[in-house]
Amino acid sequence: MTDAMRTAGGALLLDGIALRDRMIADVAREVASLSSIPCLATVLIGDDGPSQVYVRNKHRQAQLAGMTSRNERLPASATGEEAERLMRTLADDPNVSGIIVQQPVPAHLDGERLLELIPVEKDVDGLTTTSMGRLMRGIDSLVPCTPLGVLRLLQHYGAPTAGKRAVVVGRSNLVGLPLSVLLARKGVDATVTLAHSRTNDLVEVCREADILVSATGQARSIGRAHVKPGAWVVDVGISRDERGVVGDVDFDAVQSVAGAITPMPGGTGPMTVACLVANTLAAWRLQH
Ligand code: NDP
Repeated sequence: MTDAMRTAGGALLLDGIALRDRMIADVAREVASLSSIPCLATVLIGDDGPSQVYVRNKHRQAQLAGMTSRNERLPASATGEEAERLMRTLADDPNVSGIIVQQPVPAHLDGERLLELIPVEKDVDGLTTTSMGRLMRGIDSLVPCTPLGVLRLLQHYGAPTAGKRAVVVGRSNLVGLPLSVLLARKGVDATVTLAHSRTNDLVEVCREADILVSATGQARSIGRAHVKPGAWVVDVGISRDERGVVGDVDFDAVQSVAGAITPMPGGTGPMTVACLVANTLAAWRLQH
């Protein structure tokens, strides 16, 4: 770890952009030595603004890693049949290494059903029941990108995890639940509490954390009172207000008590994309 910067209050800044750029450069070196070029296919249904930005970033980083990418778009009015046909085409195409369905999909479509049409070896978001089941069972699998990115960030910056108390706020299938499994896994060895909207005394629960990860989408809801002095604080939540993108963590208040903290933006978001690209390389390897 050579790229250490500190906040004005002295916390180590967990710079997701710097680590993403390293990871992408590492993947690019490996891609250059492969017998064919991995391809990431994204499926975007409808015209949700933030989703379009996320998908653009994913293509950009895949291309920087020397991969090709396919940007499959369907209108918001697409039928389930049309969406499923597209998924099957991508699943069957030997030139496609990894497939993601950008969430959320329009309400009239069955997102779970679309996910299940992704073959496990192309499941670069790691969200199908097979990939999630493997994660739970500790069997090698493609791991969901945001949780993997959080773990990589903590490990890169040297966060002690073994025997430490980790609190994850938010229990979604996308972020909180798989992250809690990753943190508790043998080798990482944190003692994990998974908190959510029904948790009593959230402030007290959070204050026990050596590692505190918030993934709720509740803007600036994690303040100074939630943070044990010296804790590692990771912000996953993304909200938007008049000032732009805002995290779950009140950065200005927390950075002087935390031992380490992610910026928002520039922390977990870039790591999610880096892990997606790394997973696409891993998927290519599974298929060859
Ligand atoms: P979900 O809405 O699926 O889950 C949110 C979770 O937060 C739920 O478990 C919910 O509890 C919990 N929650 C909501 N309000 C509170 C509260 N006041 N106190 C405690 N827990 C609360 O969201 P996602 O997991 O999909 O996403 C979470 C956030 O992360 C969003 O802002 C999203 O935009 C962002 N995100 C960021 C990524 C990144 O790369 N940085 C990638 C993916 C998502 P309950 O289950 O009880 O309802």
